[in-house]
Amino acid sequence: MSLFPTAQPASGEYPLFAEEITYFVDVILPVPVPRLFTYRVPREYADRVQVGARVVVQFGKTKVVTAVVAKIHTKPPERYQAKYLLELLDETPLVTRSQLALFEWMAEYYLCCVGEVMNVALPAGLKISSLSKVQFNPDFDHPELLTPREAEILDEIKKQQSLTYDELARLAEVQNVYHLIKSLVGKHAVILFEELKDKYAPKVVRRLRLAPEFVERGALTALVQELEKTPKQQEVVLQYLRDVPVQQNPAANRHGTDKSSFTKAEISASSLDTLLKKGVFEQYDVIVSRFADLEASAPAPVLSPAQEQAVQEILTGFQDKAAVLLHGVTGSGKTEVYIHLIRQALDAGSQVLYLLPEIALTTQIVVRLKKIFGDKVGIYHSKFSDNERVEVWKGILSGKFQFVVGVRSAIFLPFDNLGLIIVDEEHESSYKQFDPAPRYHARDVAILMAHSQQAKVLLGSATPSIESYYHATQGRYGLVKLLKRYGDAALPDIELIDTKQARRQKAMQGEFSHELLHRFRENLDKKEQSIVFQNRRGYSPYLQCDDCGWIAKCDQCDVSLTYHQGQAELRCHYCGQKEAIHRKCPACGSVKLRTVGFGTEKLEDDLRLIFPEARIQRMDLDTTRAKNAFQQLISEFEQGETDMLVGTQMISKGLDFDRVSLVAIFDADRMINFPDFRSAERSFQLLTQVAGRAGRRSDRRGRVIIQTSNPQNALFPKLIANDYEALFGEEIREREEFRYPPFTRLIKLTAKHPDQPDARRAALALAEKLTEKLGADRVLGPEAPLVERIRNQFLFDVLLKFERNLNLKAIKQLIQTEVDGILTDKAHKGVHVVVDVDCL
Ligand code: ADP
Ligand code: ZN
Ligand code: ZN
Repeated sequence: MSLFPTAQPASGEYPLFAEEITYFVDVILPVPVPRLFTYRVPREYADRVQVGARVVVQFGKTKVVTAVVAKIHTKPPERYQAKYLLELLDETPLVTRSQLALFEWMAEYYLCCVGEVMNVALPAGLKISSLSKVQFNPDFDHPELLTPREAEILDEIKKQQSLTYDELARLAEVQNVYHLIKSLVGKHAVILFEELKDKYAPKVVRRLRLAPEFVERGALTALVQELEKTPKQQEVVLQYLRDVPVQQNPAANRHGTDKSSFTKAEISASSLDTLLKKGVFEQYDVIVSRFADLEASAPAPVLSPAQEQAVQEILTGFQDKAAVLLHGVTGSGKTEVYIHLIRQALDAGSQVLYLLPEIALTTQIVVRLKKIFGDKVGIYHSKFSDNERVEVWKGILSGKFQFVVGVRSAIFLPFDNLGLIIVDEEHESSYKQFDPAPRYHARDVAILMAHSQQAKVLLGSATPSIESYYHATQGRYGLVKLLKRYGDAALPDIELIDTKQARRQKAMQGEFSHELLHRFRENLDKKEQSIVFQNRRGYSPYLQCDDCGWIAKCDQCDVSLTYHQGQAELRCHYCGQKEAIHRKCPACGSVKLRTVGFGTEKLEDDLRLIFPEARIQRMDLDTTRAKNAFQQLISEFEQGETDMLVGTQMISKGLDFDRVSLVAIFDADRMINFPDFRSAERSFQLLTQVAGRAGRRSDRRGRVIIQTSNPQNALFPKLIANDYEALFGEEIREREEFRYPPFTRLIKLTAKHPDQPDARRAALALAEKLTEKLGADRVLGPEAPLVERIRNQFLFDVLLKFERNLNLKAIKQLIQTEVDGILTDKAHKGVHVVVDVDCL
């Protein structure tokens, strides 16, 4: 008799006996549903299924998805009949228990579904999709094996050549297409394009070696002599012997040589083929890591006394604090300090995670770390292929990678024994994910992770976020300062040029003051490098009609289109829409269209005209789309093949160049005047980082020139004096007075709808409901954001502010309830609401 009669399948396909237990699993599905789903475990998997393993399940009528087991139990669901899970993909957990706990915490904290977290966490190579394809097997010759229904379906597959699971399910009108496919595969009637398995494919390298009978000295000599008549073939053998010294060391032949690099040498490919056919050579395949095994070759750097002291202070801080903030000026050698601490943590047997903002994760830093830590270090980067990401994931589980350097999504990796997490450039806003959910902040998640694994967190920055610095001054984090550059290099000298005045005095040429041009000239003559910073890409942000004032705008977003001269087109930087450039004003027909404002492309163009002999490069989103373009630009600049590098904020992050003596900054005013409570902080951070690229070696003091129309701005004296404390003092006073973070926590709700009144109505309804429940001083808005329409959706924001010491758990539930209320209310049909916890 069964313990759970209700769960017994009607078909009796799995008969139950009294002593047998039926297991169920609650799984996380990679979809935005707010709960776990229960599936029944077929008997064949009963003693193998584990928490954290992936399973294939059917979801809805036709979808086959990969899910992760969160719980194993014996209680059938009350409200629905549990389906059987279709396949067990892992014999050992792919997701650790601490990850599962983290995913749940993130879903709760960031108000999203745990499935959404998992979907972002797992590399695509670990997920299978219902898009896999089914194809007729041309070798199939046992039609008598098929059921009539299968024969029918197979005919259809034959007709259509290939079908996805979804298409097949629709066609077959069956509930469980997976069983049908499985049966067809079992009878060898169809082939699956992409086996319902991992997408991950290991990297295979073909190698080449002499057939064993030629390794012996005498046989080898005879072979070479015999080949006298075919010199090309003889040359192949001799080349091989140069690569692999078989004569001196016969054992070396076992590994042979890499075939692809061998054939790159000046040898005849057809002769090699002949030798392979003759059996002189043999080839074989090996599976290799995508991360070329590098031996650690460099010793860790010898720390300067100041760095040594910083390390000691950090270690002292870790004794009673989980997190320490390292405030170290640009070029102080924070990386060296990190390396030292990483070494210690690894020696103690624990794992280390080193987080960097996306763009800073360049070969510069990777090479530096690989030299020291060899192949213990895994790299996790968004420009890496999915296979490489899977390899890092599995490498952590297997213990191959003890140390990972990665971007924000590296917090999702399966660590279970972290000793140290470093968050470099902790103030960077790119640590926050904006879309899709979970809208998490990697720095904050890192602190939580560290807490649960008893690890320590080191936050590092030359310009800490106001939040982190505040926590440090309050004693919540330790605070360690490193305020001198390494090797006594001086911080750069910052000068302002008043462009208003220069214009009045006719001392401007286009966007450049004469003084700045003079400095560029000087630098070129001295063969030193310059960096030109303008945080706006494209040629110009506006195309305007001189006669009627018409401006080219995106028809899906409420922004002007940026003119890109190189492609002769107008582009929307919000939705990506492109238009050919207009010859005439579409409003009045005038041909007097002109560009207003300037981006990096125009600066580059102008500089080429002014300094035709200079080697000028541009680094922005447009010039770095190709996989290695960014590296290429950096290495050319490093090697002194570029005189001037024009770029957006991409050039500000963590790059270490030693021949830059001049940095020119354009359009700082726009950044400083941006209407946001964080604009002073952000401007200070960005400008300090850009300036910090100059004069990183002690023999040349760097110079930074800022062109501004408002040199009186209160931010400049602090910037020039590199007075972070002064910035902090002022900002923290304002934050307290106006109740902004770190004194409050912010949650932003954004209602979206293609019609403006509908978006506004939904936002208003939300604001009213929340005001009622939370009080008027916690609810701001609704208000249209600066860009009020993006991709044809009108936006309205409601901003919620909560005192820091408040426990938000209950409040978040209440917010979710109100949001759900709007989403399910027919009066607000078509409205989307985006919830952003700790919005920036
Ligand atoms: P930060 O990250 O603080 O801006 P880096 O770690 O990039 O600074 O260091 C700046 C430069 O100084 C780098 O070129 C680095 O190699 C060099 N440097 C710093 N500390 C040392 C050290 N202890 N020994 C040798 N070189 C160092
Ligand atoms: Zn016009
Ligand atoms: Zn647009």
